[in-house]
Amino acid sequence: MRWVTYRSATGPRLAGVGAEGYVDLQSADPGLPDNLKDLLAAGPEAQLAAAAAIQRGRPLAAGALALLPPIPNPQKVICVGLNYADHARETGQTPPSEPVIFNKFPTALAGHEQTIVLPRLSQQVDYEAELVVVIGRGGRHIPAADALAHVAGYCCGHDVSARDWQLRKPGGQWLLGKSFDGFAPCGPELVTADEVGETSNLRIQCRINGETMQDSTTGQLIFPVAELVAYISGICTLMPGDLIYTGTPPGVGVARKPQVFLKPGDVVEVEIERVGLLRNTFAAENSGL
Ligand code: MN
Repeated sequence: MRWVTYRSATGPRLAGVGAEGYVDLQSADPGLPDNLKDLLAAGPEAQLAAAAAIQRGRPLAAGALALLPPIPNPQKVICVGLNYADHARETGQTPPSEPVIFNKFPTALAGHEQTIVLPRLSQQVDYEAELVVVIGRGGRHIPAADALAHVAGYCCGHDVSARDWQLRKPGGQWLLGKSFDGFAPCGPELVTADEVGETSNLRIQCRINGETMQDSTTGQLIFPVAELVAYISGICTLMPGDLIYTGTPPGVGVARKPQVFLKPGDVVEVEIERVGLLRNTFAAENSGL
């Protein structure tokens, strides 16, 4: 099953992908939740009922929907750093012995095709293609063996990173460098775990203006999805709709010679096998876009 959150005149709405296009869930069945986080929290029976409602519902009028992030309001946006061995090495660091965890504020989220502002306060905005895990059933101290049962599905994600903040500010400001508004594009859809299947070897790519900058597979992850869920849930209670950005493969701009940073007009695509293609255009701050 594939879910999107789209913008309507009355606020965000939840739709599923039916045979003939997007079907608004509450139009198909007013008794079901009006947002994806609540649908995940409602459990498997509600999700089965929702999938059935989408199959029999009427599709929305054809034409481009303005998509929001599939989960526009997660309680947590958790990120994993240096989780591809070859990416860790390209940044001059040894692959870590335990997951390196940081976070982004949920205000950084952005949807597919949303324009992302390059902030005035940074001159070194970099790209990072990432597989995003969406938590379905919450929990604390989840064993790795059970962890995948807590995963609702996956999205394409982009961990936009202001390197001058992340690496050069006093103490290293990972949180701030990665939390400018718009620095967490996610989407276009949440693809449920049963539809994605095995995630141990998904091709993941990043392109700028059509040129391939990153091309790897999730087979290179040092800490795979189940281990990340287990590790993080040892620290904090995971909630339905929480997002985990699982790290980026090699090819980021800061590690290139010469270095590459995003500039106004750049179109960045993150494509992940069986999960989708997330595209955003970048614009200067105050450019009027
Ligand atoms: Mn990252």
